[in-house]
Amino acid sequence: MSEVMGITPSSEPVDVLIVGGGPVGASAAALLQMATKDTRRPLRVAVLELNRPRASAPEAALDSRVSALSRASERILTAIGAWPLIPPSRMQAYERMRVWHESVQPRSADVLEFDAAYAGEPNLGHIVENRLVQTAALTAFESAGGTIIAGELGRLRAHDHHVELETSAGTFACRLVVGADGAGSAVRESIGLSAETSSYRQTAIVANVRTELPHERAAWQRFLRTGTIAFLPLADGCSSVVWSADDSAAASLLALPRTDFEQELLRESDSVLGAAKLVTERLSFPLRKLTANRFTAHRCALIGDAAHVVHPLAGQGVNLGLLDAAALCELICAAFRKREDPGAQSVLRRYERWRKSEIEPIALAIDGFNRYLAHGVGPLSRIAQRGLALVNRSDEVKRFFITRALGLDGELPRVARQPPAAPSAPLS
Ligand SMILES: Cc1cc2nc3c(=O)[nH]c(=O)nc-3n(C[C@H](O)[C@H](O)[C@H](O)COP(=O)(O)OP(=O)(O)OC[C@H]3O[C@@H](n4cnc5c(N)ncnc54)[C@H](O)[C@@H]3O)c2cc1C
Repeated sequence: MSEVMGITPSSEPVDVLIVGGGPVGASAAALLQMATKDTRRPLRVAVLELNRPRASAPEAALDSRVSALSRASERILTAIGAWPLIPPSRMQAYERMRVWHESVQPRSADVLEFDAAYAGEPNLGHIVENRLVQTAALTAFESAGGTIIAGELGRLRAHDHHVELETSAGTFACRLVVGADGAGSAVRESIGLSAETSSYRQTAIVANVRTELPHERAAWQRFLRTGTIAFLPLADGCSSVVWSADDSAAASLLALPRTDFEQELLRESDSVLGAAKLVTERLSFPLRKLTANRFTAHRCALIGDAAHVVHPLAGQGVNLGLLDAAALCELICAAFRKREDPGAQSVLRRYERWRKSEIEPIALAIDGFNRYLAHGVGPLSRIAQRGLALVNRSDEVKRFFITRALGLDGELPRVARQPPAAPSAPLS
């Protein structure tokens, strides 16, 4: 068995080995490392990451892969000391959301508007490049003494008291393996956890654009019968476009010359931000829904996209994944403080019950929203589409949606509930 930075798993397994150092896995690792680093026997945590990105230079152009991070995510990233590592010049707070169906005018009273001020909040969240979230969380983990192993998972074997992982960097053992290796999770496959998957038959086209009109620190989203167009405000004044369209329409849009694509965008967004010029290449992502039937198995837990993938129209993927990470870490740390095994069945059972009951209704709601608002033409869809205007007239219902957007509803892990006292304080 190989030795990586003092980790010698053959004689003494690592307590927790996280496969996948994406935004979710890296944050889980940092949460665990920081929570116990000042104790007599800190948890030994390692991350196995296949493809660690380099941080962007502060002056580099903004990446087109961005996410809308909720307040709950901001709190989790603050608790691990990652939030202050993201340069303020590269994150954009958004203060309102404007959502409308193609059947209504983009600047009319029928546009559903969520304003942070309704909830007495300064903003609804921040738009941040994925790569920055990931590199900040990995840096925070390393600064707290964690080990990152550069390698790819091959096979995984669960034994009574440990799990053995064959990787391209050698063979490691741990008491608990956490699969944070994304939608195509090798951990999920290796341990034989099945997942319900279905394709939306849609592709998301993602690109940054400079628009004629200012974004007004708002996220704009238009539901079309053939998909959804969102403009997310970026720190450099540009906007990130996420255009989810039926596969064949998306293929045609991707094949268009840049200026023709820009014309289509102007037309399909009903000119809401005026003419838009592409400032990055167009990237594309096939969209599917995935929910693992179980989030845990013997000495194994899944978090983030490895456990569930939702349609990006609600901007929830990373946010739900960070809540998984925080929930699992809270339970592991509680067990660890009582000198219990971090991979104990009782920890895993509680984690699964907690997060499954939170995720399933949200995934269902996002699915329904996509089906009836973006695509629907029947009576149910018409009711849902008219419902947008009704929501607009009720402050109470709006506040409900704002709390959802902030990620502050449901059973929250402690670290997401209130701002931490100090960025690097150990979690109690
Ligand atoms: C178009 C689009 C827009 C989106 N917008 C938003 C948004 O606004 N807000 C939001 O919250 N979410 C959004 N999402 C969802 C979000 O991108 C995902 O939910 C998020 O990236 C999941 O993070 P993760 O860490 O679980 O997985 P990933 O980001 O997939 O990370 C997995 C990591 O595991 C590593 N890995 C994989 N296999 C192995 C292996 N075998 N061995 C070792 N390492 C491995 C990978 O290199 C990677 O670093 C969007 C998604 C799409 C497609």
